[in-house]
Amino acid sequence: MMNFREFAQACKVIEDTPGSLEMTSRVAELLDRASPDELPVVTHFVMGEVFPAWSSEEVGVGAGILYAALARSSGIPVSEIEGIVKETGDLGETAIRALGKSSKEQATFSSFLSESDDISVLEVFQRFRDISKASGKGSQAAKIKNLQYLFNSASPEEVGYIARLAVEDLRIGVGEGIVRNAIASAFSIPVEVVERGFMLTNDLGLVASTAKKGGTEAVSRLDMRLNHPIRMMLAQLAPTLEAAIADIGRPAIEWKFDGARVQIHKDGDNVRLYSRRLEDISSSLPDIVASIREYVHADSAILDGEAVAMDENGRPRAFQDILKRFRRKYDVQLTAKQIPLNINIFDIMYLNGENLLDQPLINRRELLRNCVESADSIRVDRQVITDDPEEVNAIYTEALRAGHEGIMIKNPQSPYSPGKRGKNWLKKKPVMETLDLVVIGAEWGYGRRTSVMGSFALACHDPETGRFLPVGKVATGFSDEQLAELTALFSGLIIMDAGKKVELRPEVIFEVAFEEIQKSTNYESGYALRFPRLVNVRDDKFLEDVETIGRLGEMYRLQRERN
Ligand code: ATP
Repeated sequence: MMNFREFAQACKVIEDTPGSLEMTSRVAELLDRASPDELPVVTHFVMGEVFPAWSSEEVGVGAGILYAALARSSGIPVSEIEGIVKETGDLGETAIRALGKSSKEQATFSSFLSESDDISVLEVFQRFRDISKASGKGSQAAKIKNLQYLFNSASPEEVGYIARLAVEDLRIGVGEGIVRNAIASAFSIPVEVVERGFMLTNDLGLVASTAKKGGTEAVSRLDMRLNHPIRMMLAQLAPTLEAAIADIGRPAIEWKFDGARVQIHKDGDNVRLYSRRLEDISSSLPDIVASIREYVHADSAILDGEAVAMDENGRPRAFQDILKRFRRKYDVQLTAKQIPLNINIFDIMYLNGENLLDQPLINRRELLRNCVESADSIRVDRQVITDDPEEVNAIYTEALRAGHEGIMIKNPQSPYSPGKRGKNWLKKKPVMETLDLVVIGAEWGYGRRTSVMGSFALACHDPETGRFLPVGKVATGFSDEQLAELTALFSGLIIMDAGKKVELRPEVIFEVAFEEIQKSTNYESGYALRFPRLVNVRDDKFLEDVETIGRLGEMYRLQRERN
């Protein structure tokens, strides 16, 4: 049985390890020591998550609950906890200091139990699960009580990691890349096999425990499962239409609809829908669920499509309108009436028990056409296979005239590659260069705006370590109404409160336009943006979609070549 103390000690070693190769070996050692039952938990914990990203479960602990739990466990008032946060700038450090202080200063109030009362990794997970399940009246108190139990059961070396895990921000620099390699090395499995298992199940915890139990054989047998979303295949920007055609040969051309992505799982009459972030949004979109039930003729299927909201003139409505439908928890039927959605289905990955990922696109398309009956609310749109630049250009112009984004240029022979942004799907649209960056902090406004947040700290992604690196702030492009909405949204994501400035759980993505990318020593990414302004709040995107540090560097170089 793995104690949380053992996990915490490993985290400390990993945190102090500089190179990613070394780090991978340390993570591999940790995974190797865990039992198959413990592996799902240990694998997610080491990446700083309690539940897999696609799961509907969330710990739901913010600064307020965490400070209250620390105050109760240590006997120190919340105001003093806030003081420590400001001083240390780190929640783990804060927890260590607060609890350490109490055990020294108040002999009767022993926060740390004796060595023999070790708490196991699975017990910690169970407590987090209890915290996540607490809902409704009294849930705040229940969350605090469970956290307090964890803090008081932990040793000084453990409390820091418990505090950081509670807000799912472990900060030891281990991301998916490192864990994937660590699983391969710990259980002697080729990296490609691990990668494939991950692509299909979207759950490295499951891949790790399968690897431990059955080795390469078992991991290669992992497959897609209904009601278990797979990652979406993504597109690269086509430099020009001619180059895109030349790259592929005779490409398949489709409209790039202006809407939001939906992955559909149909299991008999049970229909589940997932957003681009793989969140279950079925209950918010009853109209689409009904269309799928009625018009998709298959016992079971996994489909890919774009939900589009049309206005009275048959043109797509603003993206923000569609997002009003996604994740809607109340007034669902009313909103469905106000903003009806159509679904354009463009791919099929699974049909009646058969995995279709490796079939060429043209075959999948054929199967798709055969099982989807077109109606007002649902359709498989036209796909034209051609290498004639004029014809492609005509379709492009037509799509833009209809108010859509542009076209997709796809390789008809290509498989469906979950989570890949490769050359088999190219997109062509009028360019405005924007970056998708995640908001990691905010500042309260000045003057008449002291009650709203007015400036937001942005970060790009380092896929290797899973960390988000600051690239500057955006304070332009917001209406008063939007600032009020964002303040309400971000208030629930505060993980550290230092008065004027707050640190936020990285969750919300801003699409930001800018004048230029500059090198800068002010921010940890090494880059800064000149004149950044908000274009859209992209709450449909996944954290892995956040621009990578590598991509920023590439854009910086391209920009220099152009000038
Ligand atoms: P963007 O910001 O341009 O929407 P993105 O990062 O969301 O880009 P991309 O991979 O660049 O996603 O482009 C593919 C997106 O285009 C899909 O996620 C989907 O939402 C949308 N789309 C619209 N029509 C199609 C289509 N026919 N085939 C594939 N994707 C389509």
